[in-house]
Amino acid sequence: MKIRIMGTRGKIEPKAESHVNHTGFLIDEKILIDVGEEKYMDHRPKAVVFTHFHPDHAFFVLDKKKFSPKVPVFGPEAHELVPNLKVISGPFEIDGYRFNPVPVIHALRLKSLGYVIQKGQKKIFITGDVAWIRKQTLLKFQTWTW
Ligand SMILES: [Zn+2]
Repeated sequence: MKIRIMGTRGKIEPKAESHVNHTGFLIDEKILIDVGEEKYMDHRPKAVVFTHFHPDHAFFVLDKKKFSPKVPVFGPEAHELVPNLKVISGPFEIDGYRFNPVPVIHALRLKSLGYVIQKGQKKIFITGDVAWIRKQTLLKFQTWTW
């Protein structure tokens, strides 16, 4: 699994030249996790998965533009700007990549998910923004069979 880190900047002014772009991770040039910059869609991902809908992870939120690409879009909760969103309610698969959602605590007014992503024997955990993960969640996570 190759992870291209497209950006990591939060909702702050850019201070370092190599940290100008907002959040996005591209997995094997196929699956885009978060779309902090509109230009990330130029990579023509086969699917998009959101960790949460803050503007630094979902560029369209600030301008209140609709986001409706012609590929499947997944996220932790329904959003008025993403009409074709598939709301995640459990593990799911995209093109051979298994996504196990992990609820994380980040903001009071919106749901946030991290994902353990597995393909074959390779796994990666992408958390998005996280302040805390409940102990119960971690215990469940430890006992999951893959
Ligand atoms: Zn956030």
